[in-house]
Order: sequence, then structure tokens, then C-alpha cells
Amino acid sequence: MTDFPKGSGFEPLPYQGICTFGRQPYSRDLNNVDVSIVGIPYDGATSYRSGARFGPRAIREQSLLLWGYNNALGVAPFKVLQVIDYGDVDVVPVDVLATHAEINAEIGKIIQEDVKVISIGGDHSISLPLLRAHNRKYGRLAVVHFDAHPDTWDAEFGQQKFSHGTPFRRAIEEKLIDTNAYIQIGIRGSTIGEEDYEDARALGARMITFDDAMHRGEGDILNEIRRCVGEKPVYLTFDIDSVDPAFAPGTGTPEVGGFSSYQVLQLVRGLKQLNLVGFDLVEVSPSFDLSNITSILAANLIFEFLSLLALTHQHKS
Ligand code: MN
Ligand code: MN
Repeated sequence: MTDFPKGSGFEPLPYQGICTFGRQPYSRDLNNVDVSIVGIPYDGATSYRSGARFGPRAIREQSLLLWGYNNALGVAPFKVLQVIDYGDVDVVPVDVLATHAEINAEIGKIIQEDVKVISIGGDHSISLPLLRAHNRKYGRLAVVHFDAHPDTWDAEFGQQKFSHGTPFRRAIEEKLIDTNAYIQIGIRGSTIGEEDYEDARALGARMITFDDAMHRGEGDILNEIRRCVGEKPVYLTFDIDSVDPAFAPGTGTPEVGGFSSYQVLQLVRGLKQLNLVGFDLVEVSPSFDLSNITSILAANLIFEFLSLLALTHQHKS
């Protein structure tokens, strides 16, 4: 990490200065940048409790507690990588299509410069324009999708095709995803009927429900993920509601009985050999949070994503 002048907010005091992710410089200059952290404060496509528009801000604030060295993976991502906080994408709260167009264009601009993007949501509808932008750069994407919900409905409210319950059906229809390399992990909770899961599987999603995950264990899940995505370019999308609401209550559609914080950290760390090209972390809704535990976890998961990229970067150079 660059040395910053005293009082600039970038020295390692978690309670001092202006919030950027991990105290990295706020910048839109993509020259020599490896990773750009981008906020997408949009929650207009939620079906139940909104509030995820405040996710990026809360996660940035909690990220100030990241000291920089990842002991589990043995890497210091902010030293290995040039990371910037790009700020937020412009969103239009009442217009999902205008917001998606804005996300697609802005993120597309960044990744065309060979900069990796970690997007902070926002509700899960934002994954669709993010997949569009990444697909233009990398072609058909393998997708590793952590969630309590398959998000493969055809429509919400009988007509809305672009809600946070539909992005992966749209992405499959638009051929953004390689359906031989699409895996969902942590799916659980009640549904309207059995067809919710059947439809997701029929579309090509390989689904590891939370029950499967508990029976099989972490090593077995990671092996299946590796087999499923192989060497393909992988987009990792992480809905915080994959985690048990006891660990991550600050979300819009909580489902009881999910992963612990430790379990998702271990699963994410296990993705270290994959060809990861894009990331989002979505559905953190701070007004339902308790003692910031959800946004602290989210900030740490993003730190793990950065650590995975740093390991690959070290390996290459
Ligand atoms: Mn979701
Ligand atoms: Mn979900």
C-alpha cells in the first residue's frame, strides 16, 4: 500500500478519516490498477425488504478494520495488487432498466482496461448487467453462485422480468453463462412449490442445497466446484443471505439454517485455484443488521476475494 500523509484518512486507524474500501485510494484512473472496488447502491428490484442501497457504504465503513495481511491464505492483497475504490455507479432508484444500462456501461469500461472488478451491492438484480459486461470481455462465463435462493424465477409480481429473483434465468436466456459450469451453493428455505428448484435445475444450474452441503462437507463441495468450472473464466456472485441470519441478519430476504461465517470463509478460500474474473457481493441491508455483523462479514469476504486475486497475481509474476 502506498504511504499516505498523516491525517489523510489512509493511515491504519479504523476510526479516522474518510471511508474507502480497505483505505485504498478513491480514484477513477485505471492506469496500472489491478482491481477496482465499485459500489452499486441499488435496491429497486427487491421483492420484500429494501435497504441494500446502503450496503456499499456500510461495508466500506467496516472494511476499515481490515489490517491487510490474510493469515489463512498467507498473502497481503493490498501490497500485491494495486487496488482502488472507484466509488459508486450512478443508479436510478425507480428505474431498473436505466440502472442496469448504467452498470453495464460503467463496469464494461473498467474491465475493458484489464482491471478486475469487485462490485458491492445492492440487490441481486445487479448481477445481470454485471454478467453482461463480463461476458463481453471474457465470453461465456462459469458462475459460482452462493445464495439461499436460486434467483431463476421467470418474473416477479407476475410481470417484472428484472427483479432480484430473476437475474440468473435472464443471464442463461442471454447466453452469458456456460450452463455446464454454473453451480449454486446454499439453496434452502420454503418456496411456492417444488418447481422452484426443478426449474433452476432444468435451466442448467447444478444445485448444492444447504442440506446437501452439510451432508457432503466442505472438501467435497470444493471438489465439485472445481470439476464444474475447470479452467473457464469464473464469475463469483455471493448473496449474503447464503449465510445464516444468526451471522448475517442484515439482509432483505433472510432464510434460517444457513452457513456460518467460518464455513463461507473456508469455502471462498477454497476457490483459490480458479480462474476468477469477476465478483459481486450483494443483498447486505444495513438497517436490519445488528452491531454491523453482516457488513463486517461482507467486508471480510471481499478481503478474501482480493486475497484470491493476489495469490493468482503472485503466481503469474
Ligand atoms: Mn440472490
Ligand atoms: Mn438470496
